[in-house]
Amino acid sequence: MRRLTAALFCLSALAGSPVAAQSVTPAPAATPPKLIVAISVDQLGGDLFAGYRQHFAGGMARMQSGVVFADGYQAQSATETCPGHSTLLTGSYPARSGIIANDWIDPASPRADKTIYCAEDERVPGSTSRNYTVSPVHLKVPTLGDRLKAANPASRTVAVSGKDRSAVMMAGPNADQIWWWGGQGFVSYAGRAEPAAVTRGNAAVATRLAAAQPPLTLPEQCRSRDRAIDIGGGKTVGTGRFAREAGDARAFRASPELDASVLAIAAALVQEMKLGSGAATDVLTVGLAATDYVGHTYGNQGTEMCLNLLSLDRDLAGFFAVLDRTGVDYMVVLSADHGGHDLPERVRMQGFADAQRVDPALNPVAIGEAVARDLGLTGRVLWGGNSGDLWLDPAIPAKDRARVLAAAVARLSAHPQVESVLTREQLSAMPMPTASPERWTIADRARATFHAERSGDLFIALKQRVTPIADPTGGYVATHGSVWDYDRWVPILFWRRGMPAFEQPLPIATVDILPTLAGVLALPIPAGEIDGVCRDLDAGAGTNCPAQ
Ligand code: ZN
Repeated sequence: MRRLTAALFCLSALAGSPVAAQSVTPAPAATPPKLIVAISVDQLGGDLFAGYRQHFAGGMARMQSGVVFADGYQAQSATETCPGHSTLLTGSYPARSGIIANDWIDPASPRADKTIYCAEDERVPGSTSRNYTVSPVHLKVPTLGDRLKAANPASRTVAVSGKDRSAVMMAGPNADQIWWWGGQGFVSYAGRAEPAAVTRGNAAVATRLAAAQPPLTLPEQCRSRDRAIDIGGGKTVGTGRFAREAGDARAFRASPELDASVLAIAAALVQEMKLGSGAATDVLTVGLAATDYVGHTYGNQGTEMCLNLLSLDRDLAGFFAVLDRTGVDYMVVLSADHGGHDLPERVRMQGFADAQRVDPALNPVAIGEAVARDLGLTGRVLWGGNSGDLWLDPAIPAKDRARVLAAAVARLSAHPQVESVLTREQLSAMPMPTASPERWTIADRARATFHAERSGDLFIALKQRVTPIADPTGGYVATHGSVWDYDRWVPILFWRRGMPAFEQPLPIATVDILPTLAGVLALPIPAGEIDGVCRDLDAGAGTNCPAQ
């Protein structure tokens, strides 16, 4: 058995020769940090943070020793990876950024599935929604890195991530280095030269992947979660230990091994590029995707998530230790792109009898066929998924569109698993919500996602605790993406050496991160360009925020 305390990757070896420790004097608050490290832990809901806080002793414990906003919100309805990451460093909701979902339908697309991926350029010849060309072209707003570079071209932006969309949405179009997990190793845009740090990292990943991994030892803190949950088809989840066969890249991805490799390469790039030691403040974005893959594959209340989060805590400690040795004055912000909901089979056993899986009949093809029958139409009527946006087929004649829409609304609204159906007309007539995010209505949440150019003709919200995965035996057992708070609630944590700690329990939003960092960096943001507000990180009478 492999002990959890043994690091999965030797960070310092991967990052080059150990550097002698330098003394780091706490910087005066007036001096901006030289490096912003923005970490997203994909699917780290506020509930997971609350549930594991007492057990963290490494990098997560360090984050808790800074400024803690435990009640953060991805306030918009689109609690998916791409929209969630797009809010983190742009200060903008999808209504402004255009990142309304991971995938959306473009009714005018020549593609058979009319599906556009958020982080692709579909104009590249030969590309499809499954075999796409990664690109930031859909992001309509600048990131922190873009703004810093505009203010001072010496500023550099570097992104390393377990997913292409998280790298692209946090870094923006001007990344100096951008690397994401490509299935067997870390890849970038075509034609990008591979830095030595990435070459070494990929070699280490290849070696590791080629070897089988024995199961992790279950620490005492995880024992109460060690219970098999039957998901049908002779399968169970809840007792996993991350044992992996040699070469199984999919299992590697849904394990702490993925984040360890991302952190190792990020640390090595900090050293190789001397991030934080140049003329301007640099940005490093780190997308940690293992928590999301673990949550989808095993749910979030079993041994798998417990082992994953304790591994994350330890691997973050190693990452921060490498940053410490550079002597750079860096500030870290850590948050998440969304929360998550455990698999309904376990939720039902543990207090919520109403947790269920979505009715397979609640999909746009089936609903569309029923609507077409009702109205005597032929051909496909509706496009989209079983929640979120739906689009009317562009071939529906103009004279029929209003009655197709009304029939679809009636059919969807009558379904017992549907909470709310909103039309494009209703959403486009609403102002952007301005209340604190915990007080937003379902319509407010949908409005913050609504983008006139990209959003659908209809928006559907499923009822609470309806998991939009009909069959758990095919791969994923649990998910996120709903309008409900278990998917919206995320921690927002700031740490910088010497920063006086405080915990603010009142709610803030992830769109507040960008203006808060901009305040710390004295980076002006013209009024009206973003949705977030600056939050004062100074525990005392001073403030990092500009006068309002
Ligand atoms: Zn995600």
